[in-house]
Amino acid sequence: SLNGKTAIVTGSNSGIGLGIARELARAGADVVLNSFTDRDEDHALAAALAAEFGVSARYIKADMSQGAECRALIAQAGRCDILINNAGIQHVAPIDTFPQEKWDAIIAINMNSAFHTMAAALPMMRAAGWGRIVNIASAHGLTASPFKAAYVAAKHGVVGMTKTVALETAQDPITCNAICPGYVLTPLVEAQIPDTMEKYGMSREDVIKKVMLERQPSKEFATVEQLGGTAVFLCSDAAAQITGTTISVDGGWTAL
Ligand code: NAD
Repeated sequence: SLNGKTAIVTGSNSGIGLGIARELARAGADVVLNSFTDRDEDHALAAALAAEFGVSARYIKADMSQGAECRALIAQAGRCDILINNAGIQHVAPIDTFPQEKWDAIIAINMNSAFHTMAAALPMMRAAGWGRIVNIASAHGLTASPFKAAYVAAKHGVVGMTKTVALETAQDPITCNAICPGYVLTPLVEAQIPDTMEKYGMSREDVIKKVMLERQPSKEFATVEQLGGTAVFLCSDAAAQITGTTISVDGGWTAL
């Protein structure tokens, strides 16, 4: 059980981050939820997790596009045994018309944030004598698709950074791995459907079947519960010698 461990999950008021926070809480961890908003419903999500699983849960606002706020999130949490770098955004456009501000935001939120949170969390993990870092990369951290230059660059960067941090912590009781999901039907994926419909001139159904799940041999979306279960496994004793690697949860995408 993860009783007594504190898990910080970035970008966790929605989608995969919230799903992972739920599974960590179910396993007994105290959780810190995060996003860049500060609404009543954000804090209510933490209260609901605490009530359902009998753990302590907090919501801390921090904008993962800002390095100082990434570091402040870890400092404000005060303890970080488990760090899940999950915050991420997407933008789909050909590289010659890719908006520079989208490029900058994706690189900052999807990649740079993990640099800042890991830098701030590692001293706490070393002091506590235990730590688990799980970076939520993507099948796009291992392979590419057209129109996703920034996302593919950021996710490949996260996979590379994961290996480096694993080497730097190899002799500490700390592991650092990346999970590479295929398509999961979250708000992030919902938001890509209209753009992709336009780009390929396809219906919504055809985008799901012929573009998204075309690459996913199982023909099924992965679920946030499955990603949460994978994160809990990486936090278990059985995973103590798993470090510096990726686990794909992609229905066979990267086997193609
Ligand atoms: P989502 O849009 O549901 O969740 C993204 C989360 O990040 C939200 O909680 C959002 O509030 C938060 N966020 C966005 N910008 C932020 C910022 N500046 N500061 C703090 N938080 C911020 O999307 P999701 O699908 O759950 O994505 C979560 C992660 O999983 C992302 O890193 C994404 O790249 C990755 N991923 C998703 C899929 C998929 O198919 N859904 C596949 C592979 C990888």
